Amino acid sequence: MSGSGGPGGGTTPSARALVAGGGISGLVAALELRRAGLEVTVLEASGRWGGCIGAHEVAGLTLDSGAESFATRTDAVRTLVQEIGLGDDIVPPHPAGAWVLLPDGPSELPKTGVLGIPANPWDPEVRRALGLPGSVRASLDRWLPVGGQARQVSVADLVRARMGRRVLDRLVAPVVGGVHSADPAMLDADMVAPGLRRLMAEKGSLAAAVAAQRGASRGQKAGSAVAGVSGGLHRVVQALVQRLEADGVRLVLGQRVDRLERSAGDDGAPRWRVGAVAPAAEGPEDVPARPEQLYEADVVVVALGGPAAVELLSDAVPALAGHEPVPGPEVKLVTLVLDCPALDARPRGTGVLVAPQVPGIGAKALTHATAKWDWLSARAGEGTHVVRLSYGRAGDPPAQIAEAGADPETDDELFAAAVQDASALLGVAISPDDVLGWDVVRWEGALPFATVGHRDRVAAIRSLVAAQPGLAVVGGWAAGNGLAAVVPDARAQATAIAAAGGSPDPEQRPSA
Ligand SMILES: Cc1cc2nc3c(=O)[nH]c(=O)nc-3n(C[C@H](O)[C@H](O)[C@H](O)COP(=O)(O)OP(=O)(O)OC[C@H]3O[C@@H](n4cnc5c(N)ncnc54)[C@H](O)[C@@H]3O)c2cc1C
Repeated sequence: MSGSGGPGGGTTPSARALVAGGGISGLVAALELRRAGLEVTVLEASGRWGGCIGAHEVAGLTLDSGAESFATRTDAVRTLVQEIGLGDDIVPPHPAGAWVLLPDGPSELPKTGVLGIPANPWDPEVRRALGLPGSVRASLDRWLPVGGQARQVSVADLVRARMGRRVLDRLVAPVVGGVHSADPAMLDADMVAPGLRRLMAEKGSLAAAVAAQRGASRGQKAGSAVAGVSGGLHRVVQALVQRLEADGVRLVLGQRVDRLERSAGDDGAPRWRVGAVAPAAEGPEDVPARPEQLYEADVVVVALGGPAAVELLSDAVPALAGHEPVPGPEVKLVTLVLDCPALDARPRGTGVLVAPQVPGIGAKALTHATAKWDWLSARAGEGTHVVRLSYGRAGDPPAQIAEAGADPETDDELFAAAVQDASALLGVAISPDDVLGWDVVRWEGALPFATVGHRDRVAAIRSLVAAQPGLAVVGGWAAGNGLAAVVPDARAQATAIAAAGGSPDPEQRPSA
């Protein structure tokens, strides 16, 4: 297999499998392709690996800048983390649990199960959050028929129909806003809570489906059906990259894939030709564009965000035109490192989710990272705290933004809003003088936007892609948001395509 092009017109080493995108989905796909014996090249547009998993340093502490935990509803991520040598570093969060801020004040978030949907409306914590009428309405779910479900339904319609408005407003909307940055009315229930409706049909009620899905994690505090990695989740990316390098995978940063087409290789056999360029550096417009590099491969795995993936694939698969998914909202994370001994007591457990109806607070969620992760608290030392607030939510402008005046946009506005919101959410006076360091990280359209019907649209895209030999598409927009969905899907797609499209060379098979 051969490639051509490259800096100065030289040749580019060949690749049998090419992965476009070096986020977790692309890296995991590369691991599987290599394991199957293929020669693998991964091209990443930016200057670092990991996509939505990254690190930054604030006040001398190395912190996760994006994803910071993974759901433990299956063993998929744990298995990967063990395989790459970090098994002993998997840690549970502090069991303090999370809180929710409702219009009538803060309360502990009940052991709600899935997306805030309770497994038992009469659980004392649920009853406290819903009030008696709310629990009575929610328990109607047990008696309502489950037959005749619509093909597509939003999270809001599902919850409202089964359990009523109070469950939706007081439990589900804060959790969905915090996790998916969107209003539950916009999100496809099957995409953000995969398998829940199928279980509902099987078990006879939504509550029973939630109880069944919680499985092993039942009885734990809300928010604790996740795990992290001591030192930060970004260590998973570092370890994965090291493993790929050791296995002989070619990892190339600063290469934006911008072209994908069918080609005939030197031997006349059909292959894929992939064009990539170094993204333009900031500078004067008359700087000449860098030359495109060309790669040829038998197998191509596209591991980009949804809109970029479909745009790239559309040249090779014209039927995809018009299937571009909607980009997600821009999420802005403000991290504050605080000198604030009052926070040693974890006044709001591991953090607070904000109900959209709460006026005067711009943040949709706050994570008290030093309360959540013991390793971080030990590193920060007594009295020093890390809190992370997230801003940006798709859908109707929430009450808190409308009433707070403007949506904070610049770094300075976000910092000011974060100090004020942290004070209100944690119930502790915090002033800018208490801030030892801060940072704003923007994730533009990074959270896939799973609007109603998304699952069917992804299925249509995947079947068009699957009709092409040696082509696969992976990533959070296709698999569902979050590592627990992305990792097993990327593995399965890569394994299947390697089996179908590659010709593994046993001599090249990596050891692990
Ligand atoms: C702020 C934030 C917090 C999150 N927190 C959690 C969490 O705690 N737990 C959890 O499970 N999930 C979390 N998620 C979701 C999770 O991080 C994602 O589902 C997952 O990381 C997506 O991985 P991916 O590989 O599909 O996409 P990405 O991580 O987006 O990777 C895509 C990669 O492709 C590159 N790329 C784009 N265009 C090109 C191109 N043309 N050529 C080459 N490369 C290109 C990008 O630079 C990027 O590196 C969070 C997401 C965000 C944004």
